[in-house]
Amino acid sequence: MNCPRCQEQLFISHINDCKTSIEIDTCPNCKGIWFDKNELSQIDDIIEPTFIEIRHIPNKDVQMETLHCPSCNNSPRLQKAIHPRDSKVIIDYCPYCHGIWLDKGELEAIQKETWIVTLGKIAKRLVLASR
Ligand SMILES: [Zn+2]
Ligand SMILES: [Zn+2]
Repeated sequence: MNCPRCQEQLFISHINDCKTSIEIDTCPNCKGIWFDKNELSQIDDIIEPTFIEIRHIPNKDVQMETLHCPSCNNSPRLQKAIHPRDSKVIIDYCPYCHGIWLDKGELEAIQKETWIVTLGKIAKRLVLASR
């Protein structure tokens, strides 16, 4: 699978919290992260609300560039979704496989133990919005 932003080969890494281990695909060049739907479904039961501080996110022009799904065969365009807690953060998701792409700053903005929670909420919203 290649990075939707810079086409570098993504590599697999893992995120662990007390309950789950989640496999993610990360870009060695831009440090973006791809989550597929199954990865996100593992975190559905984590519901604790958290506060997020956003730093160094890409500017709006970069965030609004059209990206294409790295996971689906025909590379459909990713849809843009506003982060539920900060409208400056624009998240790309695939309407077909429900994968999510996070740019580097978007990930850094969320602390390790809290961004898993946030992603679970985002995933729920995206699934609802896409129906
Ligand atoms: Zn990249
Ligand atoms: Zn897809």
